[in-house]
Amino acid sequence: MLDSYKGSQPIAYKILKNAIINDKCSHAYLIETGGFYDSFDFVMSFIKSLLCPYNKTQKEDCGNCHQCEIIDSGNFPEIEIIEPDGQWIKKDQLQNLQKEFNTKALIGNKRVYIIKKADRLNKAAANSILKFLEEPDNNIVAILITDNIYNVLSTIRSRCQILNLKPTNIAKENISWLEKIKQILFNQKKELLDFEEIDLKIQKVIDFVCYYEKNHLNTILYIGKIWNDYIKTKEEIDMSFEIMINYYKDVLNYILNKPLEIFETSNEIKMIAEKNSQTEICRKINVLVELKQLIKYNINQSLLMDKLIMRLEEVI
Ligand SMILES: [Zn+2]
Repeated sequence: MLDSYKGSQPIAYKILKNAIINDKCSHAYLIETGGFYDSFDFVMSFIKSLLCPYNKTQKEDCGNCHQCEIIDSGNFPEIEIIEPDGQWIKKDQLQNLQKEFNTKALIGNKRVYIIKKADRLNKAAANSILKFLEEPDNNIVAILITDNIYNVLSTIRSRCQILNLKPTNIAKENISWLEKIKQILFNQKKELLDFEEIDLKIQKVIDFVCYYEKNHLNTILYIGKIWNDYIKTKEEIDMSFEIMINYYKDVLNYILNKPLEIFETSNEIKMIAEKNSQTEICRKINVLVELKQLIKYNINQSLLMDKLIMRLEEVI
């Protein structure tokens, strides 16, 4: 419920909580996620607090009445979620929504629609919804979500109350390194991911770094087995480079006697720290950052990995 974000999102929490208590909700909110990993859950918590029939009769959020439970199950008829169909949000998705919302709410008196990735509203789709945003029925609340408000058309932006979420302060939270790296890498897409598979891939990337640190140039001979079998798509390769960069950064933190940012001190990190000077780790991080740039040009994966090992070994 909304109250659980009192600490992590103090400003947005206060604004929304006040709006609910005073029954002065804006008709349209544009929420900039700011890299806050839990942003969709934040939005759903707000909606629950808004729609719950007990929201004003008690001080604390409810969260467990019949209505709150239906909202949690995803079957509440007065909430509509719109997200891009392919690359863009299409005009007819919005027209269907408006048609549907022309009828009265069946339960309670408020209806809410969420537009995920509001920056994917192109002009035609946006135009079809401007009027709807502008002449709001008192009982309809729109919530638009985006990573960056400046990618949202200004005509939309100007019709919404803007709320910026605070980025997650990863270092301060007491969570495992695996959770931290997932939050860094997969900000918004959290609900779409198969986490077990990701855990395996992250582990494989770290295994690769350790294997390389022990076997150097010979790693090239085994790259198929230790890398290509697990890391396949462009996104995965990009993610893997990000993990390696962060891993070496934490090795550097270890060498400098600073607290590690993402990973935990392990025998592997100690081993790599012993084998490398500070300058050597910095050089390796630079190589990774530089080669990561090539991923977007669709470079062949085996070629990229050969290049990486050779560059790390300073063969080329
Ligand atoms: Zn409730």
